[in-house]
Amino acid sequence: MSAILIDGKETAARIREEVKAKANELLERGIPVTLAVVMVGDNPASAVYVRNKQKACDEVGILSVTHHLEEATSEEALLKLVHDLNEDDNINGILVQLPLPEHINEKKILLAIDPDKDVDGFHPMNVGRLCTGEEGFVSCTPAGIIELLQRYEIATEGKECVIIGRSNIVGKPMIQLMLKENATVTVCHSKTKNLQEVCARADILIAALGKERFVKQDFVKEGAVVIDVGINRDENNKLCGDVDFETVKEKASYITPVPGGVGPMTIAMLLKNCCIAGERQHR
Ligand code: NAD
Repeated sequence: MSAILIDGKETAARIREEVKAKANELLERGIPVTLAVVMVGDNPASAVYVRNKQKACDEVGILSVTHHLEEATSEEALLKLVHDLNEDDNINGILVQLPLPEHINEKKILLAIDPDKDVDGFHPMNVGRLCTGEEGFVSCTPAGIIELLQRYEIATEGKECVIIGRSNIVGKPMIQLMLKENATVTVCHSKTKNLQEVCARADILIAALGKERFVKQDFVKEGAVVIDVGINRDENNKLCGDVDFETVKEKASYITPVPGGVGPMTIAMLLKNCCIAGERQHR
């Protein structure tokens, strides 16, 4: 058996089309959806991410305003900018590109963002809202995984879902989201014993540990749905996921490739969150 490929690229393109229509509808209602992107310093990877986000905004008709601050910017100056953006009614979403330089306390900055403009969903208030089932913003990558499962009509209710990884950005929000989808959730991490055995119980296995091709065929139950969040480079500098795709696809029922699986969903969900922010702020 060979698994059905979950095409994140195509799904993300569809979501971007939906967002484009929504952004246009909001514009016609006098709400030009606007995202403020803040970047401090010249981390080359961050520069690429910021450019990609700007480009994605442009393509769907979301305005983006980038504040590129120099590496030596003080925490105080960055906090002041965040406060100004919070107060600015023309700004619907605020995104502070991480990582920040070492002299800036990342948590303090994220905490300063107005939770209702926190389109990344990293603010503790939004994390809490997710846990208690209230309206908020959800971290884009795990939210994208839920979209993929839903759009491929993959049943989640009563299913055994095993998540590998407990990061604040992926693993932890994924737990809450899968609970909300009525799955029975187990979360594994670097201290988990018998990882392979636990994974082999999963109807839905979500790998977010950041270790190239770590999940081998033996980790996967016949017919399981396998979602690969990892973005790694192998010894040949080739992009690969946390799952050994070539062997696992022979055993899984559905699988996300890397690249082209979960990855493209993240920005699509960010764009979607920007429209949601714009709409909520004007109701
Ligand atoms: P992280 O490094 O913050 O967390 C990794 C987690 O995996 C930790 O909780 C750790 O306990 C667990 N872990 C590490 N080694 C393990 C092992 N041997 N066995 C079991 N658990 C183990 O990572 P993150 O930020 O959640 O990212 C995970 C991966 O997903 C990375 O490859 C990252 O590049 C990728 N990622 C992709 C997207 C996307 O848009 N597709 C977004 C975020 C992260």
